[in-house]
Amino acid sequence: MAEAQDAGELRRFLLEGHPLRGHWVRLGPAWQELRSRRAYPPLVEALLGEAASAAVLLAATLKFAGTLTMQFAGSGRVRLLVAQCTDDFRLRAVAHHDLADGEAVDFDELVGAGNLVVTVQSDTSAASYQGIVPLAGTTLGECLERYFEGSEQLPTRLKLVADPVRAGGMLLQRLPAGSADAASGEGAGVLLQGAWEDLQGGLAAIAPETLLAAPAEEVVRSVAGEHDCRLFGATPVSFACRCSPERVAGLVRSLGIDEAHAALAEQGALTITCEFCGRDYRYDAVDVGQLFASDDLPQPDRGPLN
Ligand SMILES: [Zn+2]
Repeated sequence: MAEAQDAGELRRFLLEGHPLRGHWVRLGPAWQELRSRRAYPPLVEALLGEAASAAVLLAATLKFAGTLTMQFAGSGRVRLLVAQCTDDFRLRAVAHHDLADGEAVDFDELVGAGNLVVTVQSDTSAASYQGIVPLAGTTLGECLERYFEGSEQLPTRLKLVADPVRAGGMLLQRLPAGSADAASGEGAGVLLQGAWEDLQGGLAAIAPETLLAAPAEEVVRSVAGEHDCRLFGATPVSFACRCSPERVAGLVRSLGIDEAHAALAEQGALTITCEFCGRDYRYDAVDVGQLFASDDLPQPDRGPLN
């Protein structure tokens, strides 16, 4: 079973008879791919792994067609962190920081004061949704719990973990009463409250190693205890960058012809490197001439960083 445990996967589960649900993710190869694109000190890498896992879990709670972006820019040592996940669970993430390799700081100093912003951008329309919550708490999971309480008004618990091999986490949610599968009648509220507390206790108690390395059935059993659970099939999560020649061409056009010519004059070519995947896009004088000569100028991508 070693292979199955090493594969990245996302699983959803429900507690039978209660409006309680969970999502669990373990990033295997997607995390390795993400880490291979850029070297980070261990603390930043762990935060990035947690953020990437959180972006997948947030996307899993939504019905949408598009891209979810979780981003924060604060006064801390991590100046900017962006994690993006599409509705079909293609993931990318990047962080900017000034932390030295062996440096140890706490969460407060790592992220500083600022806001955590979650944006959901639709693929099919100009519609987007944005939720903002202050960066506060002792973990990224705590910040996100407050995001859910504020933006979605759903009691939510999150545990996020990352090590150099794997990253992952679990999200638990108490849905509004009257949701599918909810029991009704006398005593149901008491039973529900008890089950919700049991789940939270199970999540608090589960060892990070179990969350990251045990088979899905064992992870869910460990959190749900004696409650009956329905565990759904695995959804794969992959690393994929959204950058493309078209998107980068849009970015170059948005820089303007003067800036493009200045780069050509200085360096002989204009090179744009994708922050997420490290891919270089190089434009010489002929390319730049063509970019600014074409009549159909599409709107540049206004996504983060590129
Ligand atoms: Zn890229």
